[in-house]
Amino acid sequence: MLRYRSTRDARHEVSFAEALLQGLAPDGGLYVPASVPPLPECAWREARTFADLAFVALEPWLEDDVDTESLVALTADAFSFPVPLVPLGGGWDGVHVLELFHGPTLSFKDFGARAMARLMAYFLEARDERLTILVATSGDTGSAVADGFAGQANIDVVLLYPKGQVSPVQERQLIVGRPGVRAFAVDGTFDDCQRMVKAAFVDPDLRGLGLSSANSINIGRLLPQMLYYLWAVRRGGFDEATFCVPSGNLGNLTGGVLAWLGGLPVRGFVAAHNANDFFPRYLAGDDARFAPSVQTLSNAMDVGAPSNFERLASLVAPERLRAHLQGASVSDDETLATMRRVYDETGYVADPHTAVGLAAVRRLREAGRVEAPVVVLSTAHPAKFPDIVERAVGVEPETPARLAALWQRETAVSTLAPTLDALKDALVPA
Ligand SMILES: *Cc1c(COP(=O)(O)O)cnc(C)c1O
Repeated sequence: MLRYRSTRDARHEVSFAEALLQGLAPDGGLYVPASVPPLPECAWREARTFADLAFVALEPWLEDDVDTESLVALTADAFSFPVPLVPLGGGWDGVHVLELFHGPTLSFKDFGARAMARLMAYFLEARDERLTILVATSGDTGSAVADGFAGQANIDVVLLYPKGQVSPVQERQLIVGRPGVRAFAVDGTFDDCQRMVKAAFVDPDLRGLGLSSANSINIGRLLPQMLYYLWAVRRGGFDEATFCVPSGNLGNLTGGVLAWLGGLPVRGFVAAHNANDFFPRYLAGDDARFAPSVQTLSNAMDVGAPSNFERLASLVAPERLRAHLQGASVSDDETLATMRRVYDETGYVADPHTAVGLAAVRRLREAGRVEAPVVVLSTAHPAKFPDIVERAVGVEPETPARLAALWQRETAVSTLAPTLDALKDALVPA
């Protein structure tokens, strides 16, 4: 039976369901698989749809925990949107963009959130238990979690975001009415929101709510993030590929590393970061330290202390990590210039996060440090960042129908003072 261990104590092992529902191990470590099951050779290469591939590839991980019929239904329901692999051409020959932004909230976070929500609901129903997911958010995670968990059995969602400090598109995505989801605009900063969430988790008065988190440290978000690496190789018909991953907390990259450890033919990974460059410096062999985050145009990657670093370091020895991964740090100027250049040369409109990846690939190819085929993971739809896109390429990105439709939907949001007491009153009315 596949077990999961803590990164801090290999003797602490639990089942997948425990790791998923606990989130963090009791010793403060993160859960990683005690062993990585090999990919079922052939089968994933022959899968016709993404959902078929998801079932085939997840089965060895979950066969002891989720019955076959449920896993088929769950993967079909979670992965019901297209995942195109787009060759760029025009000076970018051999570079393919894997578009991970066709889910309901237009970022790759939909993969993890949708699968995790359905897996949690599955185990909670079997145990006849309820949970309340409490999230502080300033970006893509909140909307993916709200949408992914909405209407799932036995789960309520509470979102906190800093009032007036998220973009109009982001706010819309957070506050449209969804079954089982409540959104609160906090009169304060993102740090206030996070502080309130942390305090709520340890508050004895709230114990009865079964509070849980859905952030990127949960193993339930990592497993689904392996799948699109397989899909890219399958779609491209590659013998072997290099993957470039626009990174922040390194959860996306950790998904790729799990696929590689399971036997996916990966020539190497490029971890593309913005000015928050801890990991590229670590890979270059520097004595790198975590640092406070700095703000950039690719704000979903503004992470000074990547939470999944502990996981990568626990799964792969440093020498092997450095041999197989290389890093790059890309400035805002280079990000904008790359968006313009790719648009001029190919007509492709990239969002700022994807552009960090494209800039890294260009630089490393010129230095002869990566070979084609290269797959750049595109983590967000350009329509999420209309102002930056217009500034870079001079045209506004097209708005997909599901984003435009948000402005027709009812909204539901209340304002909250930035204190634990205010949050408690909202969660458990006196
Ligand atoms: C979250 C996010 C990232 C960073 O992913 P990690 O798993 O934290 O490394 C990159 N781009 C976008 C658009 C994101 O939302």
